[in-house]
Amino acid sequence: MISLVCPMYNEESMLEVFFNEIFKAMCDEEDYEIICIDDGSTDNTLPLLLSIKSSCSRLRVISFSRNFGKEAALTAGLQHAKGDAIIPIDTDLQDPPEVIGILIQEWRRGFQVVLAKRKERLHDSWIKRTSAKFFYKLHNKLSHQQIPNNVGDFRLMDRKVVDAINLLPERQRFMKGIFSWVGFRTTIVTYSRPARVFGCTKFNFWQLWNFALEGVTSFSTVPLKIWSYFGAIISLSSFFYSLVIIFRTTVYGVDVPGYASLLVAVLFLGGTQLIGIGVLGEYIGRIYMEVKFRPLYIIDREY
Ligand code: UDP
Ligand code: MG
Repeated sequence: MISLVCPMYNEESMLEVFFNEIFKAMCDEEDYEIICIDDGSTDNTLPLLLSIKSSCSRLRVISFSRNFGKEAALTAGLQHAKGDAIIPIDTDLQDPPEVIGILIQEWRRGFQVVLAKRKERLHDSWIKRTSAKFFYKLHNKLSHQQIPNNVGDFRLMDRKVVDAINLLPERQRFMKGIFSWVGFRTTIVTYSRPARVFGCTKFNFWQLWNFALEGVTSFSTVPLKIWSYFGAIISLSSFFYSLVIIFRTTVYGVDVPGYASLLVAVLFLGGTQLIGIGVLGEYIGRIYMEVKFRPLYIIDREY
């Protein structure tokens, strides 16, 4: 059986086209289920879903008590999916359903993870493309766990892979990283990503920035560690500089001017210390969230 996991947040305008496309793409499969997670939508997504469900028994609907975010919705979907292969797919048709067939084909050939990689990002703005590229570069430099460029959540995962993911207890869930952390035999298929058909993106710049921070802090402690080296470099150079100053004062006497160098040193050190504390704060904040052991999501009802 194949499970499709579809996170949905205020997607009423998309539902009809989405399901038409899905049913078309899945017509060759005899056994599949569609798990829709209504992530606290405030529009008509849930009633519409239920009306579609009344005519299609393959549909399972999980509705959250409020908006918990896409990562939580995906997690819930993976935990509830019963299939032998699981495919998370966006509801806005940006993950083209016709690719599903290819993913399944590769899975039947023996791969446990089949990644769908976008060929290009024609429909994203220049700033989104560049910042995404920069993020992947930075993330892969900093963390041991590599995430492949331009691969989103759209992919196929074998039952074993999903069982492994479900074992991970962490609350801060950066799914892209988690997906690649578990490993398994992987292959890549490429597709071109279309623009959103209806509705608009649910992520603004600030959310994407926080998402990127989440990614880096979830899988790397390098930002924490660099401060020791940074501190060592500064102390070492200050030591040599102090030798120079002491030598100069003892040989040439006290020389009052020095306002500029003093101010630069104070400001520079103050700034770097604040950055260091900020980085510490990012991690401590995450430790705090993690130790509270709150559930990742709360289900209002399953249909
Ligand atoms: N989504 C969600 N919860 C959220 C935000 C988004 O379940 O809080 C779903 C949304 O309905 C869609 C998918 O995540 O199916 C991707 O969202 P979107 O298309 O807005 O993101 P983008 O493609 O711009 O990255
Ligand atoms: Mg989208």
